[in-house]
Amino acid sequence: MTAVDNFVTALPGALDELAGRSGFTVLEHDVTEPIPVADAPDVVFHLASPASPRDYLDRPVETLRAGALGTEHALALAAGARFVLASTSEVYGDPLEHPQRETYWGNVNPIGPRSVYDEAKRYAEALTFAMRRSRGANTGVARIFNTYGPGMRPGDGRMIPAFLTQALSGQPLTVAGTGAQTRSLCYVDDTVRGLLALASSAHSGPVNLGNPHEMSVREIAEYVIALTGSRSSIVHVAAAVDDPHRRCPDITLARRVLGWAPTVAAGEGLRRTADWFAAAVSSDVLGFPA
Ligand code: UDP
Repeated sequence: MTAVDNFVTALPGALDELAGRSGFTVLEHDVTEPIPVADAPDVVFHLASPASPRDYLDRPVETLRAGALGTEHALALAAGARFVLASTSEVYGDPLEHPQRETYWGNVNPIGPRSVYDEAKRYAEALTFAMRRSRGANTGVARIFNTYGPGMRPGDGRMIPAFLTQALSGQPLTVAGTGAQTRSLCYVDDTVRGLLALASSAHSGPVNLGNPHEMSVREIAEYVIALTGSRSSIVHVAAAVDDPHRRCPDITLARRVLGWAPTVAAGEGLRRTADWFAAAVSSDVLGFPA
């Protein structure tokens, strides 16, 4: 197995544990260039892209290129193999249909700041389906909804790393806007199981992978404070531009065609993630703010 990463948004040392295992190779490489993997793979998972809004807003052109050229190169690598594209709930934009089914075409601002991610992933889906239809590529598209868990970069700007870091260090939790906007949080192990199920199937997708348990951002902040026993307060900061108001997957299709559903409830997943962040804070390996 080969992992290809340019580590531009990675947590330092994220692959150290795996890198020592036999049969596992790490290739430091940017997927916007052709991917030099010598052995023909059985499966290619294309997950390469900044995924946090802060990261992709900092690297707008690079994000578009990862979705466009990166997908082209990953598909080329997958010639004769199964190809799984990690797409996103962001293809639905600020959705006008709720919960979101795969048949919904979305409500994306094509020139807004988030478009660098949304449109890159929409293009990646279009390219994947074009390769399937015109070249017979064996492809599957997953639309991943807010995944979280141990190993996230504390400063990546996303809600869960931000809230946990803030709660554990006694800083106020920064809730954007009113906090009434919603997200549906899927624990990383569940998302990985879903991707593996899609890889093992012949289904084209797109198929939603997410946990349909929808919560408001304010509710999640309060939950994190209670879970960590923190004395942190909540402060409201400016809402993000074009921030989706509601997001929740309909996973009927994933249940039917993949036999997949999430199994880790938010309470359990956040507990495991909080424990991981707490250990990281106490050992200061991640350079947490004091
Ligand atoms: N958010 C927040 N405070 C933060 C970071 C994020 O209130 O410190 C909000 C953000 O505005 C959005 C939600 O949390 O409404 C989820 O944001 P995230 O960046 O995790 O991912 P997104 O779902 O927007 O891609």
